[in-house]
Amino acid sequence: MLFDPELIKSQAQIDDSFYLYSQKEINKRIDQLQKYFPEIEFIYSMKCNSNPFVTKSIFNRSLGADAASAGEVRLASYLGLKKDKIYYSAPGKSNKDIERSIKDATIIADSLGEIEKIDRICKDLGIIENIGLRINPDFSFYSKEKTSSKFGIDQDQVLDFLHNNKYSHIRISGIHVHLHSQELDPDWLINYYKNVLNLAEKIAKEIKKELDFVNMGSGIGIDYSIDDRPIDLEYLAKESNKLIKKFRDKYKNTKIIIETGRFLVGKAGLYVSKVIDKKVSNGKTYVILKNTLNGFIRPAIEEFVSTLSADKKVKAWEPLFTGKGSFQYKVINKTKEKERVNLVGNLCTATDMIAEDIEIERLEPGDLLLINNAGAYAAVLTPMQFASLEKPVEYLLSEDNQLLN
Ligand SMILES: *Cc1c(COP(=O)(O)O)cnc(C)c1O
Repeated sequence: MLFDPELIKSQAQIDDSFYLYSQKEINKRIDQLQKYFPEIEFIYSMKCNSNPFVTKSIFNRSLGADAASAGEVRLASYLGLKKDKIYYSAPGKSNKDIERSIKDATIIADSLGEIEKIDRICKDLGIIENIGLRINPDFSFYSKEKTSSKFGIDQDQVLDFLHNNKYSHIRISGIHVHLHSQELDPDWLINYYKNVLNLAEKIAKEIKKELDFVNMGSGIGIDYSIDDRPIDLEYLAKESNKLIKKFRDKYKNTKIIIETGRFLVGKAGLYVSKVIDKKVSNGKTYVILKNTLNGFIRPAIEEFVSTLSADKKVKAWEPLFTGKGSFQYKVINKTKEKERVNLVGNLCTATDMIAEDIEIERLEPGDLLLINNAGAYAAVLTPMQFASLEKPVEYLLSEDNQLLN
């Protein structure tokens, strides 16, 4: 149990729906990464949970920032990160995004057009900047085949560009590759890291100097469903460290970066929603909860996917949909008796439903439904403006048991 039920109950006297994030759990996961991968610099993918207390707490543990927008660059910088710890990678950066971020972050260009844009902006500002390139490599995560992608610049275009680079206000100092999230099989990740490091070597040879950084993206997954096995981090680290050591024999000064979002916070979050009302309609019982689709959208999306397909193995559509059975429900109530109900929310739409005809411990108004795996892609993905309803409150429970908000 991440949180003391008494704490949950007492907070529910104040808030009808809220998120709790455990600093202790987040720190435990940071400890694991830093212990197993001493050669890697980890950066936090802020978009999975940009709550300032969570973000600040992670930055305090010496992680940098993987910022997905100029707004996240600004937040990371405001929370005290220096430029050399902030990487800004996203498709479709506007001139304004680049101008706002260029002094605070290393910008990763996502297209050939964007390289030109950054060079022009640097020229206007009279500066020369180091930038990275996001590459769409000649391999995929699960195969040797290259694919078409909205992200990054195709590898052959990158090599052509580097061969003929005429821009005078940028220096290419690093590369970024990210192909896949939520992997639980370490062997696929090891194979992927190997490919990225080989690519880095090709790029270093082309520019005839050591890269400042190789950002290998994300991929380390978490167990969502009760059938998932947590990733074997020790084995992943052992094999990855061998690859890194080999790379280091040739390139001593290149920083090797891994991005991580859900691994740090996904399992450290709990969503709590209070039963507001209950009714029976033509033989079906409805438990009406505070803020479901508009409090934590992913369980509602899972229910939606279930209406489309009975197939248990529907393809993931990250980060909106990971798979069926990704969230487990617990209740805080007075009885162990069970009943069959529909779990719905308080929005004025019938699609606001997280479970149809589910057997669960009997819930009455005032009781609490708890949903786990609510630390990543939870509050940030949820349409909280819909119908102008009150929003769930987010709290970080600090190691010394303070609720920070
Ligand atoms: C979203 C994203 C991540 C974070 O992925 P997790 O699965 O949460 O670790 C990392 N890198 C990039 C480029 C992303 O877009």
